[in-house]
Amino acid sequence: MDMAEADQAPTIPQILARDALDRLIQILIEREYEVIGPRLRSGAIIYDEIESADQLPIGWQDEQSEGRYRLRKRQDDAVFGFAVGPDSWKKYLRPPKQVLWAARKNEGEIEFEPPAPSKKLAFLGVKPCEVAAIRTLDKVLLGGRYPDPNYAKTRQTALIIAVNCNDPAETCFCTSMQTGPTVESSYDVALTEILNNEGHYFTARSGSPIGASIIEALELKPASDEQCVEEQKRFEEAEAKIDRKLATDGLQQRLAANPNDRAWAEIADRCLSCTNCTQVCPTCFCTSVEDHTSLDGSKTERVQVWDSCFTGRFAELSGGQVRETTSSRYRQWMTHKLSTWIDQFGMSGCVGCGRCISWCPVGIDITKEAARVGVEVEAAP
Ligand code: SF4
Ligand code: SF4
Repeated sequence: MDMAEADQAPTIPQILARDALDRLIQILIEREYEVIGPRLRSGAIIYDEIESADQLPIGWQDEQSEGRYRLRKRQDDAVFGFAVGPDSWKKYLRPPKQVLWAARKNEGEIEFEPPAPSKKLAFLGVKPCEVAAIRTLDKVLLGGRYPDPNYAKTRQTALIIAVNCNDPAETCFCTSMQTGPTVESSYDVALTEILNNEGHYFTARSGSPIGASIIEALELKPASDEQCVEEQKRFEEAEAKIDRKLATDGLQQRLAANPNDRAWAEIADRCLSCTNCTQVCPTCFCTSVEDHTSLDGSKTERVQVWDSCFTGRFAELSGGQVRETTSSRYRQWMTHKLSTWIDQFGMSGCVGCGRCISWCPVGIDITKEAARVGVEVEAAP
């Protein structure tokens, strides 16, 4: 979606039959988008290119808890009946590896290679917390002090087809972060999947002129009163399913005021400094730059790669290492997400997707750990 077109008022829903989902994908392809959507791979739901609706994870659901992610077959053929997997849209907007420039030596002359052309991407199946994560990245990488031109290039033409959550995972806490389970803005089209005795269909709302033109091309019919009631029922049921909470009242100040709390050392006893939490997080944006030169010296390239505040080298400055211990690295990560991010960007750095909980190999749960920093522990009797 064009950022200038964000936050349009939602339209009256139209009805997209389940069988017409493939037509939506074909329209996007005809409009020269590379369509990226959820797919099954290696026992997880990941994001990759799709060319037809058959490639979506039909009839699969994820089960998640601290340090655990599994897929199971559903009793129905829901297309988007899962929460979120290890991938996020960050993979496309700020890729794990991006060549910043490359040059070759040609008969003694240095020739710079032209940058790779950027693709027009359509993201299909963006969950509400992920729409919020893209909004967060926009704030940092488009509106911050150091805008990223590569991010801007991909983001400006990216189309967002959001899908409201019907089946949040046990690890989701978007209601605490006000980012879900229903999307409210910053999308081009928002779908809600409805599967009941009456049939299998989606309500579709446009959130931008491009979204409206896609819905128009699909020649849909407006939802009936009963279908609007069904849609509303899905919104309420999804919200009621989310039990996990992050208590955000006073959290920003409490974390900032307790850099020496004993909770940090206790977390560090379990934390492996493995970086999983930062890699799966849809808003962690830190990178490093590496220079690669061919052995014969004829080619060189500068590459931006994902990095993490959990690695030793990330905190190496000219005077030495500024975060030597795991406790200081975990503290940096959590206080940035939930406290100093708000100072910097006026919003939380966490959207409540729960990925860092499921993919932490030792099951460290940001909601539980944040709740105990700076809180007096009663002595045992
Ligand atoms: S900190 Fe964890 S829950 Fe929050 S956005 Fe990142 S991965 Fe999701
Ligand atoms: S909190 Fe968990 S996922 Fe993150 S670095 Fe520590 S062990 Fe790895």
